[in-house]
Amino acid sequence: MLNWKILSHLNSKKIKLLQEKKIRYFIQHKIPFSPYYNKLFKKNKIKFSDIKTLEDLRRIPFTTKKDIVPTKKEKKHINFILKPDKELIKKYSSKFDLLKYSLNKNSAFKEFNPTHIHFTTGRTANTVPFLYTPYDLEKLREAGRRMMDIFNIDKSDRLVNAFPYAPHLAFWATFFAAEASGLFAVHTGGGKILGTDKIIKTIENTKASLLSFIPGYAYHLLREAKNKKANFSNVKKIFFGGERVSKGLRYKIKIMLKSLGSKNPEIFATYAFTEGKVAWAECKENSGYHLYPDMEFIEIVDKNNENVGENEKGEIVYTALDFRGTIVLRYKTGDIGSITNEKCSCGRTVPRISSKIERSSEIKEFNLTKVKGTLVNLNTFFEILNIKEIEEWQVEIRKKNNDPYDLDELIVYISPKKNIDFIKLKSKLKNILKDQLEITPQIIKIDLNKLLDKLGMETELKEKRIIDKRTKI
Ligand SMILES: [Zn+2]
Repeated sequence: MLNWKILSHLNSKKIKLLQEKKIRYFIQHKIPFSPYYNKLFKKNKIKFSDIKTLEDLRRIPFTTKKDIVPTKKEKKHINFILKPDKELIKKYSSKFDLLKYSLNKNSAFKEFNPTHIHFTTGRTANTVPFLYTPYDLEKLREAGRRMMDIFNIDKSDRLVNAFPYAPHLAFWATFFAAEASGLFAVHTGGGKILGTDKIIKTIENTKASLLSFIPGYAYHLLREAKNKKANFSNVKKIFFGGERVSKGLRYKIKIMLKSLGSKNPEIFATYAFTEGKVAWAECKENSGYHLYPDMEFIEIVDKNNENVGENEKGEIVYTALDFRGTIVLRYKTGDIGSITNEKCSCGRTVPRISSKIERSSEIKEFNLTKVKGTLVNLNTFFEILNIKEIEEWQVEIRKKNNDPYDLDELIVYISPKKNIDFIKLKSKLKNILKDQLEITPQIIKIDLNKLLDKLGMETELKEKRIIDKRTKI
């Protein structure tokens, strides 16, 4: 594995050369073991040896969720797992690899035999299993070490991991990051597993300096901690995963942390998707997520699938450069962001994905009037509703009168902070929503405990911030 200290400070020309070397090796010697890409290359008359540069990659058709999500009829995801047999190994492996496999019979087994699995959370589609081999788990450990380096964590730090325990990336990326970095860590499994009270006590008793959370749950736990007059004076840093962190929520969390005794707490966001197998981190607020150029290549494309320039917004497209198990090339993530190669203020020169990422699946069409469909960017609710006047919120989408043929309606449930004039808050929100989203949803005040139940704060892996109750016709 490349030395991160050197890799993270290479100039962009050297990074490009390194990625092209990685691509050539990966496509020629490993991709032939993928049933899906083997077939795709043949169908499109692409030879493995044709892909030599980052530009050549564009000859490979995109992979989308539809290609990989298993259906009742077809276990499509299986075709994305590298499955070499003796013949394929002989035909496509490099001379060096062949020598390695012949000297150590176990090495090919360790490289290709899956030992670990994550599932996509799949809100809209079926979940997809992504397999890791021991080779991949080494990458996950290394990515974890790099993440801790980016957060400037040292061995004296103590971690309480409150990501939900599940076969999902956030929990396990944090587990392997701590293990690989030699950090003392308590992996609580989150509110659903250990319970909020016990996690609060664990943070106090271990004098934790570093916490990891899904953002919405972090705020809930801190509020509970404040009710219990807990002492979080050792907490220095929090990192988030699994969900976006809006500016407003960061602010609310910082204020809450300070009121629990934490001095100058730092908040870091991470970005990840199951298909990418590792997580990427910010070095400070809004720095962008630092990529690992020896593990993946990221492109940004517009609506017509054309590549866009640096700092221009578009869909994030991911290509694995050095993984085994389940791998995807030119995978359209459905996330909207941009990329920069500029040197970061931390001195690292690796490409970074913009901190602000939106999900295109959360831009939905609604029939709110009889005239025409309205496109609503549900991502915007996270910005508008995470304000200091609001304790918790939830957006519900449903059919009027529960009739599947009737119009859609949007309801915003709000639990305001104490001493807030709800009438004033309601009219302020109405104006903002009309201005930014061109909609006038119903805004309903609801008791905090009732709303926490509706959100599933203590019972779900991830709180249900936006729920779509429309039945499909
Ligand atoms: Zn940085």
